[in-house]
Amino acid sequence: MRRILHMDSDIPSIYFPIGKIEDGGSCEFATETCILNCPSGMISNKHEKYAFSFFKKNDVERIFNKLLMDYNYLANRPYNAKMIQWFCWGDCPSFMTEKVADVIKRIAEYGIPQYGFTRNKKLWEILPSTDRLHIGLTVENYSKALGISKTTDKMIAHPDYDTWYAQMIFHGKVRSRCNGWWCVNEIEERNSDCTRCLSHGEGCYYRGD
Ligand code: SF4
Repeated sequence: MRRILHMDSDIPSIYFPIGKIEDGGSCEFATETCILNCPSGMISNKHEKYAFSFFKKNDVERIFNKLLMDYNYLANRPYNAKMIQWFCWGDCPSFMTEKVADVIKRIAEYGIPQYGFTRNKKLWEILPSTDRLHIGLTVENYSKALGISKTTDKMIAHPDYDTWYAQMIFHGKVRSRCNGWWCVNEIEERNSDCTRCLSHGEGCYYRGD
């Protein structure tokens, strides 16, 4: 059975094909820099294409049910973070904004924690930010990222292409830096562990002032 959720290490995640819409990709808001630095290696595989076409063809309820089915399947793995990550790579294009927002809200109501990253500002604006739901807006310019973050409770993510860490910014301050292996926050430097971030209110699940 084909899935639309796949593991990023121990995290059930959504991957969409990278690249511009006109090339069959999902990265409508991509800059040249992010495409060049994308960890996908600039190649889309059949799993990513299938997930993207599944979202295109189906309604919110069907996508929600499929995500739950895949999530429950992946939950049988011994190392499984109990959450969903959005857009490990790829992104939500504007024609899918409302649909993706409704799916994310539906999953949140069901009780599964979610975090992720998007350059789709409208999606970021529509989605609420709660202790168990943080979809960060990726902003490439550091000063701009800090500036936007001062005006909102929501997460802003700044990709630092010099160090290959993503900086998670809340309320105008970088609260953590994470590269998927190491997570450096205001208290400690430790292995990346999204379950710990969720339970301690750190990283993408920051719960401070
Ligand atoms: S900051 Fe924490 S929650 Fe975010 S990706 Fe890193 S380990 Fe996971």
